[in-house]
Amino acid sequence: MKEFLDENFLLRTKTAQRLYHDYAKDMPVIDYHCHLPTQQIADDVQFGNLAQPWLSGDHYKWRAMRTNGVPEDYCTGSRSDWEKFQKWAETVPFTLRNPLYHWTHLELQRYFNVHEVLNADTARRIYDECSQKLQTPAYSVRNLLRKMNVKLVCTTDDPIDSLEFHLKLKDDGFEIPILPAFRPDNAMDASDPQKMLGYIKKLEKVTNIAISSFDDFLYALQNRHDFFASVGCSVSDHGLEEICADDFTGSEVDAIFNKIHSGKMLNADEQRKFRSAMLIHFAEWDWEKGWVQQFHLGALRNNKSRMMQTLGKDSGWDSIGDFSQARPLAKFLDKLDSNNRLAKTIIYNLNPADNELVATMIGNFNDGTVAGKIQWGAAWWFLDQRDGMVKQLNALSNMSLLSRFVGMLTDSRSFLSFPRHEYFRRILCDLFGDEIENGEMPADPDWVGKIIKDICYHNAVNYFNWQQKLQPLTMKESVK
Ligand SMILES: [Zn+2]
Repeated sequence: MKEFLDENFLLRTKTAQRLYHDYAKDMPVIDYHCHLPTQQIADDVQFGNLAQPWLSGDHYKWRAMRTNGVPEDYCTGSRSDWEKFQKWAETVPFTLRNPLYHWTHLELQRYFNVHEVLNADTARRIYDECSQKLQTPAYSVRNLLRKMNVKLVCTTDDPIDSLEFHLKLKDDGFEIPILPAFRPDNAMDASDPQKMLGYIKKLEKVTNIAISSFDDFLYALQNRHDFFASVGCSVSDHGLEEICADDFTGSEVDAIFNKIHSGKMLNADEQRKFRSAMLIHFAEWDWEKGWVQQFHLGALRNNKSRMMQTLGKDSGWDSIGDFSQARPLAKFLDKLDSNNRLAKTIIYNLNPADNELVATMIGNFNDGTVAGKIQWGAAWWFLDQRDGMVKQLNALSNMSLLSRFVGMLTDSRSFLSFPRHEYFRRILCDLFGDEIENGEMPADPDWVGKIIKDICYHNAVNYFNWQQKLQPLTMKESVK
């Protein structure tokens, strides 16, 4: 029997262990999509205790606690940090076989060198030890990033964001580039005219452009796209139930915008048409600037209205939706491709039933200009666990080229989530190791090792064109 979570965790064969330790382990981390708060990096914040970086904002943990019968007051309510932590610690033994169990203990090991199992009995000791460490300068958020060998981070930002903290980080000369990503979800969602009017007002203010027509609206947003580029952004992202690819004419969209501008409710067709138009415009700007566009598809969000009203979005009331992805996705990509305006694209699906759909869709639009131009993004959110990753990696291998995959990202709000890259790398090496040992793949560690290093690091660097932004690799990272 193996030790729990030892150095060969998830590595079931000798070859997998060799591949991981010799090739994957020391590769730096590129986190090209996450939701880290830039202000905390700019201020180089230090947390007062372990509950703060672990439990505030982590809807994965809140869901597990609620499922385990913990009252809301201990998740998002007014209980003290210690009380919340205690309830989490009591919940952890009940999370066996959920990825939270592995993530929790990986995080305790990698950041704090704590090798104990977290439960009600160990809670106080672990809380005190980790909190004490967090209060030392070595555990400031910038040092947490350094500790995890993170070389570049992309945050997620609304076009109206001032990016003041990204600019401050640039001014400070922080050696890890923290780049913004352009996420204009709010500029496409016209389901609530009052909300949209409020957004337009903020956009006017931040751009100093008066907006009374669709052209003005586009001009102002494009101004923000240019501004984001000037701060180092080269990635956009869109969170959508499904792609909208309805046909539209300029005059139709003008009329829809005028309706929004006068505060009138749009019908469902008009909302879709508006979103379809915005998506095409954003995609064309991304293509013009050589950006990578990302699409996170398939979440059914904010399902519990009672809690939405008190807590707002991203607090754990979302699930997997069953939208029909294939036709609109194909139509959207084809529209752009037909006009030679298709940027590099990463598509993430939340419904695992769409795995093979996306794995084959990307092949339609790869055109030989860039290896892996159209990517299927890593297993995401509810699929970010061994089963979800293995299914994604297998379908990608079977229907496309795993070797060209840009790999893992945390998609997290926490500075303590970086071991998710390690988790992914171990699973990746285990798959390759298994097939080598079974004689299904040549025992050529140099070639397989190169592919593993590419998926861990080099493919992302090359795909996003970040070579100039990164520090050179150390000997340990570049050997073999
Ligand atoms: Zn995300």
